[in-house]
Amino acid sequence: MSYTINRTTRFLFPITGTIMAVVLSMSSAASASKPASTATSEARVAVEDLVSPTQVVTLGTGTPNIIQGRAGTATAVIVNHDEVYLFDAGAGFMETLAEFQDEDKRGIFPVSPSYPTFMYPTFLDKLFLTHLDSDHILGIPELLLRGWVLERNQPVSVWGPEGTQTVVDGVVEAYQPDIQHRLDSLPIGQEAPYTGIVEEFGSEPGVVYQDRYVTVTAFNVNHGTWEAGEAFGYRIEAPDKTIVISGDTRPTPNLIEHAQGADILLHEVMSQTGLEGLPQKWQGYMKEAHTTTGQLADIARQIDPELLVMIHPLFLGASENTLVDEMAQAYDGKFELADDGDVFD
Ligand SMILES: [Zn+2]
Repeated sequence: MSYTINRTTRFLFPITGTIMAVVLSMSSAASASKPASTATSEARVAVEDLVSPTQVVTLGTGTPNIIQGRAGTATAVIVNHDEVYLFDAGAGFMETLAEFQDEDKRGIFPVSPSYPTFMYPTFLDKLFLTHLDSDHILGIPELLLRGWVLERNQPVSVWGPEGTQTVVDGVVEAYQPDIQHRLDSLPIGQEAPYTGIVEEFGSEPGVVYQDRYVTVTAFNVNHGTWEAGEAFGYRIEAPDKTIVISGDTRPTPNLIEHAQGADILLHEVMSQTGLEGLPQKWQGYMKEAHTTTGQLADIARQIDPELLVMIHPLFLGASENTLVDEMAQAYDGKFELADDGDVFD
């Protein structure tokens, strides 16, 4: 499915200018070990120069629970049919790309000139992690290694909390037999492109990435026992719209602050009905970690996005219809429950 929001003039988050200046001043001192494209001083592309609106694709909408048709959580932001920014890499999310070989969706992602009728995801080279829970990172081996086999010719730049380097290094170490076999046998060569180049955030990340299309700001959210600097939401400011991704979080004032002016708010959610049916020990955990439909309605009213997209839905035994009905009763604004492969612009 594809959804289009009605555009109105939105104001941009006011701190961006000052933090951007700091990042730009730091860029000349950036070390070679940092992702190559961080903090560039390239001129920004103006909205009138875009060939297409910025699009959001939910490649995976799953959770730790096993639900047919919902791959592990992963969200792609595509700007100008050119650059793709991936947020989280859950289990099996790359399978969803197969839909984008079909006639009606082909061309949403950049197409490889060498293989126009096949999905060669060479464009997946920038990954931003919200946190290091496994349902958000199980797809990292797939991204690094499958992408490399499918002719990505540069490493993946990975941004995330402390511990991200350990995860990426561990993947490369664990898959050494596979890597060596492919180096020995496949017509692809090049040692470096299966790796990730990592930049870890501190406890107050602010603007973490900037290029000619986007400014990406990471901000702390409250997800269970993860502390400041360990669980993030992201604000992505593209020329034509602002997108906010919550990560996993219980209601968090910091998210409401950083999401002001968002056109599309992608927020995690859990069913109130499902929650009430859980054993008490699980109810306590869930309330510390996640956001109910009623709580999300309250959050969305304080942000007033053009479109609220519910991602990472925890049904907890309730049906999809029940979750949607809960939200419809609590929230008057425009919202959708994302499925894998949905496109929002
Ligand atoms: Zn999760």
